[in-house]
Amino acid sequence: MKIHEYQSKEIFSRYSILVTNETVCYSTEEVVKATEELGLPVVVKAQVHAGGRGKAGGVKLARTMEEAKNAAHSILGMDIKGYKVEKVLVAQGVKFNSEFYVGLTIDRNSKSVIFMASSEGGVEIEEVAKDNPDAIHKFVIDPDLGMTAFLARKIAFKLFTDFALVKQAVDLFQKLYQIFLDTDASLVEINPLVVTDDGKLLALDGKMNFDDNALFRQPKIAALDEPTEDEKKEIAAKESGLTYIRLDGTIGCMVNGAGLAMASMDVIKYFGGNPANFLDIGGSSNPQKVITAMNLLLSDKNVKVIMINIFGGITRCDDVAKGLIIALDQMKVDIPIVIRLSGTNAEEGLRIISEHNLPTVNSLSEAAQEAIRLANN
Ligand code: GDP
Ligand code: MN
Repeated sequence: MKIHEYQSKEIFSRYSILVTNETVCYSTEEVVKATEELGLPVVVKAQVHAGGRGKAGGVKLARTMEEAKNAAHSILGMDIKGYKVEKVLVAQGVKFNSEFYVGLTIDRNSKSVIFMASSEGGVEIEEVAKDNPDAIHKFVIDPDLGMTAFLARKIAFKLFTDFALVKQAVDLFQKLYQIFLDTDASLVEINPLVVTDDGKLLALDGKMNFDDNALFRQPKIAALDEPTEDEKKEIAAKESGLTYIRLDGTIGCMVNGAGLAMASMDVIKYFGGNPANFLDIGGSSNPQKVITAMNLLLSDKNVKVIMINIFGGITRCDDVAKGLIIALDQMKVDIPIVIRLSGTNAEEGLRIISEHNLPTVNSLSEAAQEAIRLANN
């Protein structure tokens, strides 16, 4: 789960990490009011769950009220990587000389939390990692010891020579690690971290992601969730026992089993098609589940054809076929369906399907090719 910059900085503030004075605004009028209160210059920043806002034109420095108004006008409603900007952050402009990067994440190789630090802050860290990987210093944090003052100093000396800054950095790094643990985060990032005119370390930006599996014990964090329309569907699917992930293709997939669902998507891709989703309906022949799944697929306007791929193991294909027939009888489906049944009692299942004048195929390859043909029609 992701939260916005301003929400991350609110959490930083609670741990007395210095952040910019700032106000969240939902309209140009609010931006004007916030600018009056904060004083010029201000920076107007899009609040969306996507990085690289600066590059996308979603971060603008305003030296006059006119500029602040224009910035608000152009940023509110803007689309950044598929996210519509509904609120902006108006932050007091800050003067600084250099931009640093600090971040904490989970490193699966070392099975630990790692701390990353770089003097090449400001730009997206993925770019630094690509062009100049040596500029990113990485430190594995021993879970038993945590962020010791010793380790924090070692990191701080990679970024600063001035001892007053090193001291502040040690304190900051220890707080960031504490935040990471306390909130069950999977990512905590400050980019850029800057040194102000009066020699203070300040978080100019903030980014936090959280471990979804820990949200049950983080009610305050969970309350900040703003799922997109697609994520809302995924959550609803989960609640009815389905695992659904939307993709951007045209072939709606309904499959029993996660592994088979992945394989189905691979085969579609292999033959040159594009799956519209991952959908695992699990091992059941319950018609209600099929109806829910079908409605989910039909709610995606990109879907041109539905490919149903069932492998009967413990679940018997004839049961699934009966479930499908009951489900399809109860709803109006006006796009073509391709059904592949295989495994336990497949012949019986296929017979039931054909009796109801639904097209069947024998193999997954055939199903994928037929679905692609129908989708392109
Ligand atoms: P991001 O592009 O989504 O990471 O957004 P940031 O909040 O990091 O802003 C992008 C860049 O805008 C920063 O790296 C800074 O160079 C610049 N910036 C942001 N706030 C200020 C500010 O208060 N003063 C100045 N001079 N530059 C700022
Ligand atoms: Mn940033």
